[in-house]
Amino acid sequence: MKKFINAKIYKNNEATEILVEDGKIKEIGNNLADCKEVIDLGGKMVTPPYVDPHLHLDYVYTLAELGKTGAGSGTLFEAIEMWPVFKKTLTVESVKKLALKGVMDEVSQGVQHIRTHIDVTDPKFTGLKAMLEMKEELKDIVDIQIVSFPQQGMYTYKGGRELVEEALKMGADVVGGIPHYEPAREYGEMSVKATVELAMKYDKLIDVHCDETDDPQARFIELLNALVYLEGYGAKTSASHTCSFGSADDSYAYRMIDLFKKSKINFISNPTENAYLQGRHDTYPKRRGLTRVKEFMEHGINVAFAQDSINDPWYPMGNGNMMNILDNGIHLAQIMSPQDIEKDLDLITYNGARCLNIQDKYGLEVGKDANFIVLNGDSPFDVIRNRANVLASVRKGEFLFKQKPVEYDVKLDLGVKY
Ligand SMILES: [Zn+2]
Repeated sequence: MKKFINAKIYKNNEATEILVEDGKIKEIGNNLADCKEVIDLGGKMVTPPYVDPHLHLDYVYTLAELGKTGAGSGTLFEAIEMWPVFKKTLTVESVKKLALKGVMDEVSQGVQHIRTHIDVTDPKFTGLKAMLEMKEELKDIVDIQIVSFPQQGMYTYKGGRELVEEALKMGADVVGGIPHYEPAREYGEMSVKATVELAMKYDKLIDVHCDETDDPQARFIELLNALVYLEGYGAKTSASHTCSFGSADDSYAYRMIDLFKKSKINFISNPTENAYLQGRHDTYPKRRGLTRVKEFMEHGINVAFAQDSINDPWYPMGNGNMMNILDNGIHLAQIMSPQDIEKDLDLITYNGARCLNIQDKYGLEVGKDANFIVLNGDSPFDVIRNRANVLASVRKGEFLFKQKPVEYDVKLDLGVKY
């Protein structure tokens, strides 16, 4: 047994101590039973681990491998065209080597749960084979969910849908789709229907790259939401991006928000990535590329933030720092009122866990795995304003890492005192 003391626990104003036995939380409270090992957290904020619910681990650092620092036009569609050329050169070993760097970036900054989309429009399934191995090999430090993702579409060439299905048989956890990339609206609709059918057939979750465009006529979310609502499958479904919903007119948007509430569908927004990729065909005013995060939160619709890309043809930056994603996201979505700040951390923790359907195992509660991170601050406002770094990550009661706050060799002295 061991006891973590002097903690500021997120969403729990009373308790300061966490008692851990056999890797699980035995008790949360104050003045808990004495034990041999006592770890003082110094009054710092403790939250469940960060969740990154949308990342492309088979793409990380491939931009550098391509010898480029950025795509020419910076549009989504140019990046999609760049990818297949590089894809031909991949091996299981080369994918694992780069993906491990991406996992390290994330885990070393407090992430313990990643949902990764893996491009399965490859008859050899190189990326998928690599990721299935890594999921098993890394399970002690990070939980990885794999999406069977048809980057080149299901119907842009013959046999795309079959590849998505084969990847599910091989062990992918989630069915993906990219309807706005299909060659005609009808094919986009077919792909949404196929995604839901495959999820039902193989009992998998759903996560669709949905309407990642500024075109307000891209409304595949409408069909996706209706289908999963009818099947009672909304809580198992996430719609990623939905950028066009930020360009839709209000009367349409509010009718849809009502329907999203009914289906319990989840949304995943990638604020840095889409702020970079979208609005490219606008002069001014220029759109932000963000879905209606603030309105989803106000209406109790689950929405989470994600990294999406780390140095790939879609986005040159990215370093796995979820606090950076949150910081960008709360600016773009304008969610910084005192009430907002109290729950903004949910966007990179609890809300992501709901997208992954792991809420029953996730969180700081008695009986659950003792998984949490320690942030360098003592309140949600403090850690968000300072973009606090993660001082420690604990998994099943053991430190994955810990570090000290910055210490100076020479400290700045202004030479005055007031
Ligand atoms: Zn993506």
